[in-house]
Amino acid sequence: MKISDIYGNKKTVFSLEVFPPKKTDSVEAIYSTLDGLKNISPDFISVTYGAGGNVADVKTRSIAEIIKKEYNIESMAHLTCVSTSEKDAELILKDFSYHGIENILALRGDINPERPPKKDFCYASDLASYIKRKGYFDVGGACYPEGHTEAASIDEDIVNLKKKVDAGVSFLISQLFFDNDFFFAFSDKVRKAGIDVPVSAGIMPVTNKKQIERMVTMCGASIPQDLAKILSKYADDPDSLTEAGIEYAWRQIESLIRGGVRGIHLYTMNNPVIAIKIYHGIKDLL
Ligand code: FAD
Repeated sequence: MKISDIYGNKKTVFSLEVFPPKKTDSVEAIYSTLDGLKNISPDFISVTYGAGGNVADVKTRSIAEIIKKEYNIESMAHLTCVSTSEKDAELILKDFSYHGIENILALRGDINPERPPKKDFCYASDLASYIKRKGYFDVGGACYPEGHTEAASIDEDIVNLKKKVDAGVSFLISQLFFDNDFFFAFSDKVRKAGIDVPVSAGIMPVTNKKQIERMVTMCGASIPQDLAKILSKYADDPDSLTEAGIEYAWRQIESLIRGGVRGIHLYTMNNPVIAIKIYHGIKDLL
């Protein structure tokens, strides 16, 4: 099923994101994650893709196929283009369609200074229009409530986002954020820019101080004061931090849903226990 049709049929779409097992692990390692996640009935599960052509890339399609065929849950494969030639993309898309993958999150990927980008696709919008020309797939894109780290301003980033939507992206999934004010302000700007595709809010429950600090450094998300207090209060008490982090995510999601968000996309970090707890706290709102 095309993910656009899911947005068309539901007030609030609930999706999850998993990543392929590490290089040394086999694809089978994903089963323990998926066995846990299947009971919370997500509308779709997306599978991340390596930016640099590593083993994870091969696993992305296999896992998206397992989700769809063995768990009967719609899936979406992420695809990055920074290190992908048009020839490679053609083969990857053939492989995706052959294995029944209908939905792709078209991404540029992060630029690795040690690996010069291939020249066929400069931006995610170039990949999105290439995929749309193939005619088979529904294509989503990433968006950034606080602006992408390379963009000079949020306004400039939204001008570029409009190009991505005009290239054929039919829904957007946001970068993680912890302060809903950024998301609501971003949503207003997006609508004013004439972008009318559904936008899901990316939520990452805070359960590990180091992990969150790493993510925040990578993606530039702001930590609001109430979350900073939680992080410092429970710095040495991981169980209490997990509990407080789940409660924080519940409050964040509840306010987003009340504010009319079209979807919640949960970054599960392959931890079904946390995802299940989050789901049970919000399921009546979905
Ligand atoms: P783009 O949309 O191409 O934007 C990148 C930058 O270029 C932005 O600053 C934008 O403003 C600018 N820009 C875009 N178009 C133009 C234009 N036409 N002219 C001038 N400037 C332009 N990374 C992975 O490696 N694997 C994953 O699976 C993955 N999944 C992700 C899922 C989500 C929901 C999100 C939010 C991010 C994900 N990422 C993933 C990270 C992503 O690859 C990086 O954030 C990357 O730096 C940007 O990718 P993009 O697709 O947003 O790029």
